[in-house]
Amino acid sequence: MKAIEIENLNKIYNNRVQALSDVSFYVSEGEVFGLVGPDGGGKSTIFNILATLLLPTSGQASVLSRDVVNDAKIIRQLIGYLPGVFSLYPDLTVEENLIFFATMYKSRIKDNLPLIRPIWKQLVPFKDRRAGKLSGGMKQKLALCCALIHKPALLLLDEPTTGVDPVSRAEFWDILTNIQKQGITVLVSTPYMDEATRCDRIALIQEGKIIKIDTPTNIMEAYRGFLYTIKVENVFSVMEKLKEFDFPCNYYPYGQELHIAFYEAPEIVLQKFCSFLREQNIKFEELSPIQPTIEDCFIELVKLK
Ligand code: ADP
Repeated sequence: MKAIEIENLNKIYNNRVQALSDVSFYVSEGEVFGLVGPDGGGKSTIFNILATLLLPTSGQASVLSRDVVNDAKIIRQLIGYLPGVFSLYPDLTVEENLIFFATMYKSRIKDNLPLIRPIWKQLVPFKDRRAGKLSGGMKQKLALCCALIHKPALLLLDEPTTGVDPVSRAEFWDILTNIQKQGITVLVSTPYMDEATRCDRIALIQEGKIIKIDTPTNIMEAYRGFLYTIKVENVFSVMEKLKEFDFPCNYYPYGQELHIAFYEAPEIVLQKFCSFLREQNIKFEELSPIQPTIEDCFIELVKLK
């Protein structure tokens, strides 16, 4: 069974901005499916359409076999939605927010407490604090509790870890794995490519178009280049000089280092590359082969399309 089915979905804002172009994908029941891509890709637009808060310009989308346009009311009862922007009531306390959301969905906290207990336990010491006064990670945990308190069949999480510290981010993903074990389907978006590996399948999205859909492992195995990392003093001046390097390759800054992918047998091209570095007087500390990350795959797919 499919929890989400989207076919040729288009969204144009104000007759001007094409936010989605022919987007099609499905999410199977029980999956954790990730929408991964940079800002402005169209992720929030997809979430808002699936949550029935925004009408598509054309195309079809169904959630739990209900149409997002015709069955909006039913869909709202069946899903939990955590929007990208802070969605709680900042002046209500932690506990009051949870009670409010439970009441709105006509469910009782005690019925679904086991589902949220591991997260709720961490919030209990702060239950009388106003939600607006929580840290970023804690706010997201409370928002997740509120989205889960009616035990939805599908959870929509739009960038739940943006702006959250790395430790809380990792913890958040552990929580999602637990939620999946309870049989809840999860659609989650993230701009952090490293988080993509925590999903069963991902769709890489850019400028409103899906570039690739597969498991993270398959995407990484399909990488075509021979990837190296090189430590240089000034990444950007080296990139300028590399424009003269006359072999098929792809290079970009990656943290403090430079990643370079070659598209010919590395035995040959590496020799040429090292001679080029010497000729150009480019000093480097280390040049080593590495396994591509999802981010490297994303860059390859975008640049070689
Ligand atoms: P993401 O969530 O991946 O950052 P969005 O769905 O928010 O992407 O945005 C996709 C595109 O649509 C962007 O170019 C954005 O500027 C535009 N957009 C989003 N919401 C609106 C809106 N309400 N009116 C006009 N343009 C919008």
